[in-house]
Amino acid sequence: MKGLVERDVPRRTLRTRRLNPEGKRDFFLARRSETIMKRFFIVCAGLGVALLTVHGLAQQPRTSGQDLDIVPVHGNVYMIAGAGGNITASIGRDGVFLVDTGLAAMSDKVLEAVRQLTRQVQVKEPPVDLRWGAETRGTLQNSLNPAMPPKPIRYIVNTHFHPDHTGGNEKLAKAGRTFTGGNVAGDIADAGQGAAIFAYENTLNHMSAPTGSQAPTPDGAWPTDTFHQESMKLSHFFNGDAIQIVHIPGAHTDGDVIVYFRGSDVLASGDIFQMTTYPFIDVDNGGTINGLIEGCNRMLDIVIPEFRMEGGTMVVPGHGRLSDGADLAYYRDMLTIIRDRAQALIKQGKTLEQVKAAKITADYDPRWGVSNTVWSTDKFVEAVYKTLHRAGSPEGLRYGFPKAAPKPAATTKKKNQ
Ligand SMILES: [Zn+2]
Repeated sequence: MKGLVERDVPRRTLRTRRLNPEGKRDFFLARRSETIMKRFFIVCAGLGVALLTVHGLAQQPRTSGQDLDIVPVHGNVYMIAGAGGNITASIGRDGVFLVDTGLAAMSDKVLEAVRQLTRQVQVKEPPVDLRWGAETRGTLQNSLNPAMPPKPIRYIVNTHFHPDHTGGNEKLAKAGRTFTGGNVAGDIADAGQGAAIFAYENTLNHMSAPTGSQAPTPDGAWPTDTFHQESMKLSHFFNGDAIQIVHIPGAHTDGDVIVYFRGSDVLASGDIFQMTTYPFIDVDNGGTINGLIEGCNRMLDIVIPEFRMEGGTMVVPGHGRLSDGADLAYYRDMLTIIRDRAQALIKQGKTLEQVKAAKITADYDPRWGVSNTVWSTDKFVEAVYKTLHRAGSPEGLRYGFPKAAPKPAATTKKKNQ
């Protein structure tokens, strides 16, 4: 549904999980979180980068009881949590690449966090040796003045259109800069100003409107570059990463993408995967349970774990704490088991009310159950049921559900009369 703000859903970051007594309900996950904390502290000590809460931000009055957490992930990639949906940020010599931009109300804080990280990374990084990325300074400039000016936000990717993931688009894009070549800048008023915003085509469709009608978001927030194929990739390395953007059809919405940083080995999943609750399936905007499972499987194809331990490819979920392949596999299994239970009941001809009464999520509710004004376990089961049951739909047909009985047409009636 449009206008949905998922920050209402309880958020557990590394920090909050540690303090949260609810963690006791799931010993395994609490323990995992502890271990990840320890691992981060080791990594942080090595790099001289602390698991930090942005100074200054922490001292500002907290809006809705939240400030931002910045978690170093791998290489140049960081997770910024607490601004709505999680933001993945690649920050380095080539500038800033963001996946999602959080809520509009949080964009000043996000911008400040990005600027602070940029300054820190600049201090941390040794002087440029030779050619790094496509957008680095020349080696001559560098030898004359080794102190590099901080680079702006160059690219933003929206994983889907929901406002807790795109709300900061306008402000953050404006603060950024797109580099153009040749005489393009002379032809297009906007060229050379503002970061580029990539998204799947349907995401732009949800955010914009045909000429003459009122768009749900201001045009400054709209994606500037869309694609409609299965995937796209950034045309060059950025901060040492090849960056791939892959569309997952009909998952959380009809415009989801996952973003893979193929050097730092970090995946940004958008809301296809989240560590807080059962996934929100935006049925009205093309979301389906099978698409979600397919999305998790696509990500699991990419993810490779470390040898008998946590880590390996890291996954920044749409909401909640930083995750790895084991978390993702557990989540995929949970969705698959619940989907199969619903499917079996539907095949027996059970109604939605009967499926709800069967409590098909009971064993997972202590960890993933949710009940708030926006999303609840009941609504999740309903969405699973609806997208499986939709007779004649690809989901329905795939599992052998019969097509909907044709409505009695006027001609048939006449025949009978
Ligand atoms: Zn969403």
